[in-house]
Amino acid sequence: MTEEHYAAGDTAEDPPGSHRLVIVSNRLPVSLRIDREQWSARRSSGGLAAALAGVAGRGSSVWVGWPGCVVPDALKQPVSEWMARDDLVPVFLSADDEELYYHGISNQVVWPLFHYFADKMEFSEAGWNAYQDVNRRFADQVLAIAAPGTRVWVHDFHLTLVPGMLRAARPDLQIGCFLHIPFPSSEIYRTLPAREQILEGLLGADYLGFHTHDYARHFRSSCLRVLGVESEHDAIPFEGRRVALGVHPIGVDVHGFDETLARPETRSVFTELCRHYAERRVILGIERLDYTKGVGLKLQAFERLLERRPDLRGEVVLLQVIVPSRLDNPEYAQLKRDLEEDIGRVNGRFGNPGYTPIEYLHRSIPPEQLASLYRLASVCMVTPIRDGMNLVAQEFELCQEERADLDDPYRGTLVLSEFAGAAQVLPRALLVNPWDIGRTAGVLEQTLEMTAAERAARGSSMAAIVRAMDCDSWARHFLARMDDAVVKSRAWFRSTRVLQRGEMDEVLAQYVASDHRILLLDYDGTLRELMRTPEEAAPTEEIRGLLTDLAADPRNQVHIVSGRHRDTLAEWLGDLPIWLSAEHGFAWRAPHDTWHELERRDLDWLPSVQERLLDVSEEVPGTRIERKPTALAWHYRMADVDYGVWRARELHSQLEQDLAHLPVEIIHGHRVIEVRAAGVSKGGYVGSVLDEVDERTFVLCMGDDRTDRDMYRALPPNAISVHVGGGDDQTRYSIPSPAKARAFLRELADAGRTPAAD
Ligand code: UDP
Repeated sequence: MTEEHYAAGDTAEDPPGSHRLVIVSNRLPVSLRIDREQWSARRSSGGLAAALAGVAGRGSSVWVGWPGCVVPDALKQPVSEWMARDDLVPVFLSADDEELYYHGISNQVVWPLFHYFADKMEFSEAGWNAYQDVNRRFADQVLAIAAPGTRVWVHDFHLTLVPGMLRAARPDLQIGCFLHIPFPSSEIYRTLPAREQILEGLLGADYLGFHTHDYARHFRSSCLRVLGVESEHDAIPFEGRRVALGVHPIGVDVHGFDETLARPETRSVFTELCRHYAERRVILGIERLDYTKGVGLKLQAFERLLERRPDLRGEVVLLQVIVPSRLDNPEYAQLKRDLEEDIGRVNGRFGNPGYTPIEYLHRSIPPEQLASLYRLASVCMVTPIRDGMNLVAQEFELCQEERADLDDPYRGTLVLSEFAGAAQVLPRALLVNPWDIGRTAGVLEQTLEMTAAERAARGSSMAAIVRAMDCDSWARHFLARMDDAVVKSRAWFRSTRVLQRGEMDEVLAQYVASDHRILLLDYDGTLRELMRTPEEAAPTEEIRGLLTDLAADPRNQVHIVSGRHRDTLAEWLGDLPIWLSAEHGFAWRAPHDTWHELERRDLDWLPSVQERLLDVSEEVPGTRIERKPTALAWHYRMADVDYGVWRARELHSQLEQDLAHLPVEIIHGHRVIEVRAAGVSKGGYVGSVLDEVDERTFVLCMGDDRTDRDMYRALPPNAISVHVGGGDDQTRYSIPSPAKARAFLRELADAGRTPAAD
């Protein structure tokens, strides 16, 4: 990488050698070939390379990726230097990496599962280790070259962990990520081993893009069901950040196709094809060899058409191009044999000397031929079982654009699977369910008989859409939206008041300087993660050790202020030298002492409310009632997440109406609705603890739930209040998770032990 070269694209604000955009994808836009001591490279055309050509200006961006082959150690340095001249940074993979990370996890786990082929998923620990390791190496390459605040755009399913790795190492980076394949329904997604890591990896981004709204919706519901993270429709609050979601259907290289179509070679190929197929109508299929593409179902639908319509035999030809792909995988080799067998069967049944119903090419075809076939075909049949987008459908419409003449009897129509992302951007295609062979054959018949005017009307509206959504504007829009998302996320971050290192140091200094400290700590959701059942949330050794260490300092008074039943707190924490406040302040005890209670309240309402909650519990599976001396809690953490929230909202508003005249308070906490005697609150307890403190006392109060707001209200102005977990609350600071809250308390405990504090 020559310094002079990069300097050419730098602006006054950018330090020398820095880039404003780092693109990261599994493959570089070149394919390297090694022949003994020599190497050569071929530029990829189309696809991502074309899409990013406009935004990846020379010198201002750099592309990190795999060059596509194993590079011997001795050549790594010269290859890197050579590639740097084109702003490319290679990530070298060994043959084992290629086998485990690329074939093993990317192609044999994520690809099939995300396309709903769960039974083809072949997960292995070794593969997963390699996937993590290779993602780490990609991330390390980015970290080595990204100046502060650089925009990094990560692409696709091979690199799902990279955003999280970058975020952990460098919170300053602006990270976007686009998934080029579908995101499956959470019902499918949750079968993935390592499902948490992949979601958390993706959530490292500031902005996550998908081809369709459905994929974004599935991602959100997977976050809810797998990680328990709730979301807004366009963003997911995660670890103190706001990860924005966007929908960006990718388009085709319109300019490239226009150029190819205008070339004289293309015109002569087209003329030749017209002459060759003068007597026939061509149904065109162009697919990479892959089980997701539904070519077998397409062949069946075509066979059905010829069965039903003998008059079409001899007149229509299915011209099927299969672009070779992944043939070193036995499954793909078998798929190829199966398809060839099917083709042979149909040709055997309906062929004649001079008529081959299915013409089949198993190879790549040059751009002039591709564009000419698109222009020629009467029908393009794109019927994948699942496809993230499908560019063939769009390219066909673009190349047919010229046939705008309303009387052109050969203006082509598009038969498109409703399971391709393209169906959402080309709604005037004839949409089919590829599994329904009979109907697909019927749609083929319909399209062959459609009037020229209708074909032209459908086609020209779709061609206009394709032209407008070309791949260059896709990339620009993505980056513009990503910039907005970063601005919003940073503003949101500031509004959440996440405790920063500098503030943490101030808190530590106050703590160390004070010789009287009161720590008021909620338990569930603050010290301990919320678990599916209340019993599972028993304190870990880490929590007990932390409380023990904090309480060991004679300057500290540690209070657990919880809504839990006193017996549970006594059983879990009763042996520690700390104060316990149970049942939202109704009962409390000093270390190792007996319980005290507030004056008894009017509890006449309790039996009828209990009956009411029992009814709801019977109706909503997974919910349960917890009985406390002055309260009843309806827990729905184990219910279906969506249904639980829905019924809880309904129950809450009904209880508010029906119990308005009774001396109760109704509180909707984290997956719990609690009805408790009025006048009992954590605030009362905190108020009594703080009754006699002066302003020199260090007061720290930490909570996570609405019930903790009563505590915050009872605090003196100089107290340090901290909200744990996502969402907003009325505290001075926030900390994203119980794990981070424990780390914070651990720092306090350790700082208290340092000699300076003694
Ligand atoms: N294509 C190609 N070589 C060929 C025939 C087609 O590269 O011989 C291109 C085609 O123009 C299209 C892409 O391959 O841009 C296929 O994209 P699509 O989204 O349809 O499917 P994918 O292969 O990405 O799953």
